[in-house]
Amino acid sequence: MFDFQRILNATDLYNLHTHTQYCDGHAPMQEFVVEAFAQGFTHLGFTPHAPILVESPVNMSREQVQSYLDEMKRLRDAYGDRIDLYTSMEIDYVGPDDGPASDYFASLPLDYRIGSVHFIPAINNPGVMVDIDGKYQGFKQRMGQYFDGDIHYVVKTFFSQMMAMVEQGGFDIVGHMDKIGYNASQFCDGIDEEPWYDKLVIDLFENIMDHHLVIEVNTKAWLQRNRFYPNLKYFGMLKRYNAPIVVNSDAHYPTLINSGRMEAIKLLSVL
Ligand SMILES: [Zn+2]
Ligand SMILES: [Zn+2]
Repeated sequence: MFDFQRILNATDLYNLHTHTQYCDGHAPMQEFVVEAFAQGFTHLGFTPHAPILVESPVNMSREQVQSYLDEMKRLRDAYGDRIDLYTSMEIDYVGPDDGPASDYFASLPLDYRIGSVHFIPAINNPGVMVDIDGKYQGFKQRMGQYFDGDIHYVVKTFFSQMMAMVEQGGFDIVGHMDKIGYNASQFCDGIDEEPWYDKLVIDLFENIMDHHLVIEVNTKAWLQRNRFYPNLKYFGMLKRYNAPIVVNSDAHYPTLINSGRMEAIKLLSVL
């Protein structure tokens, strides 16, 4: 088990959520290492979108995994004396048979694992998994095509998938736990302020705490959308329950490796 305490207690710069050429990131791993070191980072973890059983242009294929592990070893050999590099994946929970708890992921030599939900089943066709992450324009189009415009279904199903993922286990860090909140609130203004929505987040939070998982504060969208995942309004709850937290930039570009992290850390520290 990865010793998160080493990082949680440290004032060192770290990022445990990084996308590169092995999925939808925009630079090779080495460029992230060089940039992280230049910015004074002491810990950097790589998290390509893990292979999944459904068709996805974003996720790494199983055939690419060995190449990723080889590149990781090469970079550790070259830079490991200057920065701690970690091998990980952001593993999708797609369903009971395709998620972080699968034997396949247990068999991989990973330092830690992030569990995330980016896909939920279409409203009248549970066999079709639909991407609910990403830019709002695409989300809006898929709301009509796959969900009959039923935003309540989408929000509830996102959180029920998250709950099922937490129940199944097989991972260490819960990735962007309320990510649906942004796209849902673009589609239906204020939906993420409604009591039933709040309850879904709080129930998920309690379940995560019961399972002793680490919660990610994801800062990728802070600069562009003024939004953290979990949303800023839940930071007080994280602190009150002394939740184990890691603050990750979910960087897809080397220059954004620290984007939003200092702001989140500062906001968390004053609570
Ligand atoms: Zn993600
Ligand atoms: Zn990510």
